[in-house]
Amino acid sequence: MLKTSGATCNLACRYCYYLGKKHEEDHSCNSKIINYSLLEKAIREYILENPSNPSFVWHGGEPLLAPLEFYQNVLEIQKKYARNIYVENSIQTNGTLLNDNYCEFFAKNNWLVGISIDGPKDIHDKYRKTADGKPTFEKVMNGIGLLKKHGVQWNTMAVISDYCAKYPNRFYEFFKGISCQFIQFTPLVERNLKESSKLASLQDEGVISNYSVRPESWGNFLCDIFDKWIAKDVGEIFIQIFESTLANWLNITPGVCTMSDSCSSSLVLSHNGDIYPCDHFVFPHYKLGNLYEQNFTQLRDNRKIKNFSLMKTELLPDECKQCEFYFACKGECPRNRFCKSLSGQPYANYLCGGYKKFFKYASPYMDYLKQEFLARRPLKSVMNFRAGKYRT
Ligand code: SF4
Ligand code: SF4
Repeated sequence: MLKTSGATCNLACRYCYYLGKKHEEDHSCNSKIINYSLLEKAIREYILENPSNPSFVWHGGEPLLAPLEFYQNVLEIQKKYARNIYVENSIQTNGTLLNDNYCEFFAKNNWLVGISIDGPKDIHDKYRKTADGKPTFEKVMNGIGLLKKHGVQWNTMAVISDYCAKYPNRFYEFFKGISCQFIQFTPLVERNLKESSKLASLQDEGVISNYSVRPESWGNFLCDIFDKWIAKDVGEIFIQIFESTLANWLNITPGVCTMSDSCSSSLVLSHNGDIYPCDHFVFPHYKLGNLYEQNFTQLRDNRKIKNFSLMKTELLPDECKQCEFYFACKGECPRNRFCKSLSGQPYANYLCGGYKKFFKYASPYMDYLKQEFLARRPLKSVMNFRAGKYRT
């Protein structure tokens, strides 16, 4: 993942995990874009490391603060080092800066565009605002309109806040209404340092923010959305967390790191060359080094990255290890493990209650889907199975 413009963004979403970081004081519109020499070094070394299937994710802050010429340069450099190998590119944007030129470029070069949008207008605008408090929904929708007009492949990423979790039905219908076929959503869990508005990292004592989703609301939200999806939309709409749950039921690698055995092995490069092991751990304590001074291979040999990847399996309370749903949950993301378990052990997951509720609710359907998958029958029949269950 390359953070084209570091933490710099044209919006100031109230829950942004970059806005409140102790060391990230540069969240302003004075764009700081990755310079050409760092860009070339990063692309060259990454392709050398991954010669058969190089895949780049362009992220921010807001990556479209970089002009189109930046991404044209990206393609040139990728062609230079990948030669005839196919290079995959995706970009995660708030969508407000999309225009015809960007969209033509993305369509022509087969880039996947992820749009950050939290649902219908009132839900989206609750926290996703400009620095001076203006709503952003209309601009994002305009961006989605441009993607559709140019035939760009797109999907959505929504953050589930305390507010959003109250409206699962409206949330789901909204995404259906805009013909979004690939939906990702992530629970909003952020803690602030005690007596400060700065974000707390896993080591810090912290207080859960007001806008974070509560575990029981997260569980209810997942169950409600799952219920709608399993009734009518299996095979038509792809929801990452449900697909990943099914993958774990089938004992195959899920598409999301939070539900995998280990953390993602992809590194995060910031505009200034700093490298981190994960976008949610951009804290000084977790910095692996700087690409100006080292190369990717040296950075991957760093003891810190080994310790980081062990965190997923080693920082687990007994409650997780003995949990009937561990195979599906894998303890979720370590950044949410800041609670004490019932037996008083550290590293219990804040969202555990919500996940347990969801896995329990989804179990009979996941069992059914597994059986159909193994028998090579169409999974859509789960909708009849649900209708039958509902009648009895
Ligand atoms: S810390 Fe969480 S988000 Fe980061 S790689 Fe691990 S599971 Fe994924
Ligand atoms: S549901 Fe809770 S106890 Fe079970 S693995 Fe997940 S976080 Fe751990």
